[in-house]
Amino acid sequence: MAFPPASHSWLPWWASVGTRPVRPFWPRTRWRLANPPAHPPTLYLTFDDGPTAVATNPILDLLDRYDARATFFVIGHHVEAFPGRMRRIVAAGHAVGNHTFTHVDAWRTASSTLIGEIERTAQAIEAHTGCAAPLVRPPYGHLTPALCRWAKREDAHVVMWDVMPADFQRGASPTSVARFTAAHARPGSIVVLHDNPMTEPVTLGALDAILRWGHARGWRFAALPPSFE
Ligand SMILES: [Zn+2]
Repeated sequence: MAFPPASHSWLPWWASVGTRPVRPFWPRTRWRLANPPAHPPTLYLTFDDGPTAVATNPILDLLDRYDARATFFVIGHHVEAFPGRMRRIVAAGHAVGNHTFTHVDAWRTASSTLIGEIERTAQAIEAHTGCAAPLVRPPYGHLTPALCRWAKREDAHVVMWDVMPADFQRGASPTSVARFTAAHARPGSIVVLHDNPMTEPVTLGALDAILRWGHARGWRFAALPPSFE
């Protein structure tokens, strides 16, 4: 494990490398995938918090330009507000995951409320796209044992990440986010970005740079599969 950089922030390093020792203790979680055999190095880009009026379409346009696929962890009440964008996400071959109905913090919410939010979001996704969404990402990455037990019972998966370039962080720039991603991405890595008006200027510039970087190296950008071995 590389020593954390002395640069402006420990957060991206902590969220990408520092949590590695505790990952095996959380059942039904996925932090990185095995690179599919016979495939070039594959990156799984994920976008949390959408769909949104501002960011979703430009993100989809960029992904289209590079023939890249990704996964959108959507908020249920945004799904109901922007069903057209949901349909565009699915029609373009991207995957959809569940990011709760109102972006609740699992560490401050009764587990029955959290599960209710996830189930309500799953219904909204299904109603507007016809797709089941067996992948769940808790807001803020806040795992709880109850969430993992629920995922096991429901044959769902909790999707975390191994690369968190922190596009939401004060001081983040397209260059810092793209550089962090390039430095930490490994074949099969799951990268967190945001479909969020607050991060949009940083995220779009970073996404363009990440796609260009990967494209030049023969990397493939894929949607997460609905299930894992
Ligand atoms: Zn979120």
